[in-house]
Amino acid sequence: MFLRKIAVALALFYSVFSSQLSSAQTIRLTVDLTDAPRNIYHAVLNIPVKPGPFTLVYPKWIPGNHRPSGPIPNLTGLRMEAAGHSIPWDRDSVDMYAFHMNVPAGATELQVSLDAVTQSGNAAGTGALASSNVLGLNWNEVVLYPQGTRPDDVQVAASVNLPSGWKFGTALELAFQGRGRITFKPVSLITLIDSPLIAGSHFRKVELTRPGETPVHVIDMVSESESGLAMTPADEAAYRKLVAEAGALFGARHYLHYDFLYTLSDQVVGRGLEHHQSSDNGVGEQTLTDPDQHLLEAGLLPHEFVHSWNGKYRRPAGLATPNYQEPMRGDLLWVYEALTEYLGDVLTARSGLWTPEQYREALAQTAAMLDHRAGRKWRPLEDTARSVQLLRLLGPGWQNWRRGLDYYSEGELIWLEVDTTIRQQTRGQKSLDDFCRAFHGAPSGPPKVLPYTFDDLVRALNDVAPYDWAKLLNQRVNEVQPRAPLAGIERGGWRLIYNDKPNIHVYAAEKERKYQDQFYSLGFAVTEAGELIDVIPGSPAYQAGIGPGMKVIAVNGRLWSKDLIKETVRSSKDNQSPIELLVSNAEFVKTYPLDYHGGLQNAHLERANGEDLLDDILKPLTK
Ligand SMILES: [Zn+2]
Repeated sequence: MFLRKIAVALALFYSVFSSQLSSAQTIRLTVDLTDAPRNIYHAVLNIPVKPGPFTLVYPKWIPGNHRPSGPIPNLTGLRMEAAGHSIPWDRDSVDMYAFHMNVPAGATELQVSLDAVTQSGNAAGTGALASSNVLGLNWNEVVLYPQGTRPDDVQVAASVNLPSGWKFGTALELAFQGRGRITFKPVSLITLIDSPLIAGSHFRKVELTRPGETPVHVIDMVSESESGLAMTPADEAAYRKLVAEAGALFGARHYLHYDFLYTLSDQVVGRGLEHHQSSDNGVGEQTLTDPDQHLLEAGLLPHEFVHSWNGKYRRPAGLATPNYQEPMRGDLLWVYEALTEYLGDVLTARSGLWTPEQYREALAQTAAMLDHRAGRKWRPLEDTARSVQLLRLLGPGWQNWRRGLDYYSEGELIWLEVDTTIRQQTRGQKSLDDFCRAFHGAPSGPPKVLPYTFDDLVRALNDVAPYDWAKLLNQRVNEVQPRAPLAGIERGGWRLIYNDKPNIHVYAAEKERKYQDQFYSLGFAVTEAGELIDVIPGSPAYQAGIGPGMKVIAVNGRLWSKDLIKETVRSSKDNQSPIELLVSNAEFVKTYPLDYHGGLQNAHLERANGEDLLDDILKPLTK
């Protein structure tokens, strides 16, 4: 209640603020990316100023990250000049993102030089943004802007130069290109930061719209090799279908053109960051041709695409802040991220990037993972959203007790419950598709933000199908719920089961990420070397005293191997004696008996009674 009030207040603040447009001032930004292979970008900003005390700030709260992730430690080589003189600057002693200075009399422009180190700690998380062959540029990493201004009111004329022979993709519109310099049409700082650029020595553009058709959709791909760009005709067709299906789902588009920026590299950070007119997607180099990577990453572009409607256009009021320094509030991320996750996965199936069986296997794994989450006994789902800034970069040790960013996956189950409830309440006349058309739809137009509150959401759901949505959502989100919300799967005509047949997504992930998932049998995941990644509290392994960070050395007296543990679990059904694990904890070893006789436990969905609503949900809307 209290937080919802704050959200309403912020929404008002936002709209009042939006109407107070002051005269625009244009910053010139020149970025030299020729040093990208060693992960340092050089930038010069020319900022109009007046004499007197002046403060510049570095963007701190980055949209889509939902946390203060602006990589301030990576800001280096900072120098200020005005009227031909060097100007001393002073970092604020409390706010690490603010720099104070005095602009001398007569100066009208401040020249700021800076370098951004892009080796790690960028907006995407960990890992480098550039390699010998590719780069990603998030403009927030190379800009400072005057404190107290609205990024909407600050105009930036940006240009870049690239390593020789590299080509680029971005949603920014080109002004002109020549002598190695690429100059973009001036845009607001908001639009600039919302329009990242990728570039690489291996580049391919795939047109997703027919000539003459608008808005234009393209995939801009960069990779470490030509083979990394080998998108099959079937995938190209599926992405065209994705564009059509998203259009049919929402009934309007809130962009003038759309660029899927797609980086295929094992050298740079894997990522997925949404923007209004583009998305920044990073996957492994062989994702287009390796069947396991393809399966695991199929939902990425659909997810980020859906964000253009859900997250960028419609945004929770607490995340629609007036500038990059204002803290964001993570409440309602179970709409922002989870409805996107739900619709993204549905569109992955509707566009043919997944078969219905692949969709169901993904859903089964999500449901099983959440139903075994021990942390749900103490932490309500909303707290995982509100705590995004604490949880985002933590490792997997004790994650089952702490909970991770569960609002994504658990929210997906909740939105399935909402969808199947609407379908049942209206006897098949309405669905969540109708909600999307009303909440995210017409009119089409250029990017804009329409903030909403919990009450707005409930009202919009009630307009589609009258129901006590506030009660349902409050129960699911704000109450401690020891079991995962499986009602959507059950209303959909399916049930969650476990057997010894591998789940296809877990099987692919185990091969790709070189680990073993025994979460629903012994209660742990373990690397191929025997290191325990996490242990579920309450599981046989936990009861025996084993914890994450320890290492399995032997199983029933025989040296550890991943195949040995799998065979031992499989045969545990016919075995009366406990499974004995010899485990090291730093320098000490100990034998732990695990009293387990349940065999392999892999999650699947099995058809139950009633109508197969899941099948209806996955049917494409377009021919
Ligand atoms: Zn997302």
